[in-house]
Amino acid sequence: MEAAVLRTACLRLVANLAEILAVGEALERALALLQAGDVVAIPTETVYGLAGDATNGVAVARIFEAKGRPRFNPLIAHVADRAMADRIAGFDPLSAKLAEAFWPGPLTLVLPQRADNGIHPLVTAGLDTIALRMPRGFGGELIARLGRPLAAPSANSSGRISGTTAQAVAADLGDRIKLVVDGGATPVGLESTILKVENGKLRLLRPGGIGAEEIEAVAGAKLLRGAGGIEAPGMLASHYAPGAAMRLNIQRIGSGEALLAFGPKRAEGWQDAVAMRNLSEAGDLREAAANLFAYMQALDRVGAATIAVEPIPFEGLGEAINDRLARAAAPRDNTA
Ligand code: AMP
Ligand code: MG
Repeated sequence: MEAAVLRTACLRLVANLAEILAVGEALERALALLQAGDVVAIPTETVYGLAGDATNGVAVARIFEAKGRPRFNPLIAHVADRAMADRIAGFDPLSAKLAEAFWPGPLTLVLPQRADNGIHPLVTAGLDTIALRMPRGFGGELIARLGRPLAAPSANSSGRISGTTAQAVAADLGDRIKLVVDGGATPVGLESTILKVENGKLRLLRPGGIGAEEIEAVAGAKLLRGAGGIEAPGMLASHYAPGAAMRLNIQRIGSGEALLAFGPKRAEGWQDAVAMRNLSEAGDLREAAANLFAYMQALDRVGAATIAVEPIPFEGLGEAINDRLARAAAPRDNTA
């Protein structure tokens, strides 16, 4: 073994850094990690993605954890083919035409989700729409082998620029993930263009790898721009808000309240809660993140006027969990 190679291998072991494998030799290892609910950095035509099984809440929580994202914003779910996309979301004729023209490729479509599609609610931040894309190359192959969609935001820690080489990704996230699949520099180098059809009109939610003119030529119409509806990126304060009021950091439960618990120790008066879900008995923030949206929704369905929430620590994923709860608890503004 060459000295430099040996040195890198030793460093990796000592510092517990991610393994970097070329696309030609990475498929089985990447599959094994994804099947075990772990995350893997993969090349796509846009930028490197930090991928996890979109049907596994703990895997999706790990994506947020590795990125150190202070918020749960909705992620793009990546599919292998149209059949997989059709099982997840409903396509209107215009979205179908765009998928036909640009998939696989750097185009993301926001579509209404199908019921019981298996997508974990942490992927969509509890929204009833989902952002879908079909990537080219290694990602597509990996998803086809896994047989399940991958949630994958850009492979960089929160606030840093998106990684476009395996080395950049490893330098940024290498101490937090196990594998970076090296496909060389990404050809597009920009995130995907995000579009959404609203009442037959096409809205550009995020400019990206495919230019507006190219899309307009296929659609036969001009793109609407700007935020428009409430679901535009960056304006997602409108993420799932429960019908019930939310009371955070409670020490004692009030009468008629439902309880969203965390950890092994209960708030005073917990026996009187009209319903209870525990985000994580063990106090594990990853498990809590994975359960958050489903449990808020479940307690909301019980019909209690207020959901009381036990304190959740701010470290690690706790920051994003607290951010989400604070938004759910904020005064409702229908124009938000
Ligand atoms: P990233 O995965 O980091 O490239 O970012 C995904 C982008 O897609 C973010 O800007 C999100 O706000 C946007 N997005 C994801 N899902 C939806 C959705 N259901 N509706 C609108 N925008 C979405
Ligand atoms: Mg990003």
